[in-house]
Amino acid sequence: MNHELIMGIPVDHITYESVLEDVNNHLLAGTKKMTIASVNPQIIVESKKYPEAVNFLEKSTHRIPDGIGIVLASKLTGGKIKERVTGFDLMIKLLENGNNNKRSAFFYGAKPEILGAALKNIELKYPNLVIAGGIDGYTTMTEEEVVEQINRTSPDFLFVAMGFPRQELWLNRNVSKLDVKIFQDVGGSFDVLSGTVKRAPKFFLDYHMEWLYRSLSNPKRIGRIFQLPVFLMKSVWWKIFEANNLL
Ligand code: UDP
Repeated sequence: MNHELIMGIPVDHITYESVLEDVNNHLLAGTKKMTIASVNPQIIVESKKYPEAVNFLEKSTHRIPDGIGIVLASKLTGGKIKERVTGFDLMIKLLENGNNNKRSAFFYGAKPEILGAALKNIELKYPNLVIAGGIDGYTTMTEEEVVEQINRTSPDFLFVAMGFPRQELWLNRNVSKLDVKIFQDVGGSFDVLSGTVKRAPKFFLDYHMEWLYRSLSNPKRIGRIFQLPVFLMKSVWWKIFEANNLL
């Protein structure tokens, strides 16, 4: 698949349609595992601290441009990424795909009560999707036990929702041990599916500013407002100097 590097991190030239087509082909062929990883400005900026998370992104079969920050960085550095493919919206499309085709999904991550509420909502909204199981992200089970429990169900989809870099590091260690066909890291998506965290109002969604709404509505995230311009400057700097070995 064609991709480009943003500050050295690969992001694929990909759309919702192309990912869904690949999902169906992978599930029919049943040979190779498909790993869908979100790439956003926070991940790129912090990635240097976590080489194993970068390793996971490099090995993943699908690196999605998760957010307007990636689209802007691509534009500013002469890249080809025109559209966002957000982790949350893609997960919803995979749940719909699973519901239409009676596929199975396992859910790993988030607080126990959040996971429970998310699974209840998923069951109501996608009655034909087989919920293979769920394990919260604070479980006292060992990593081997988690892998074993997932493998007992051999799900088509595994959604891992533990935030960056926990989910990438966990996937990097465990994809090869898991009997799963399609993996996606989905950050805080279970919180949204549980109804605990609301998606942004339509205005923010229409203008690709969900990140701004989320930063403004959560004091813990307020610093992230400044991350976007800094990230854009850094990605242009990287393209001009580091990508060409001028430094
Ligand atoms: N989370 C988890 N286990 C942990 C830490 C976090 O399952 O040890 C979950 C958390 O409950 C939330 C998701 O990971 O559902 C995203 O967490 P956070 O908001 O901290 O990450 P961010 O969105 O800031 O990357």
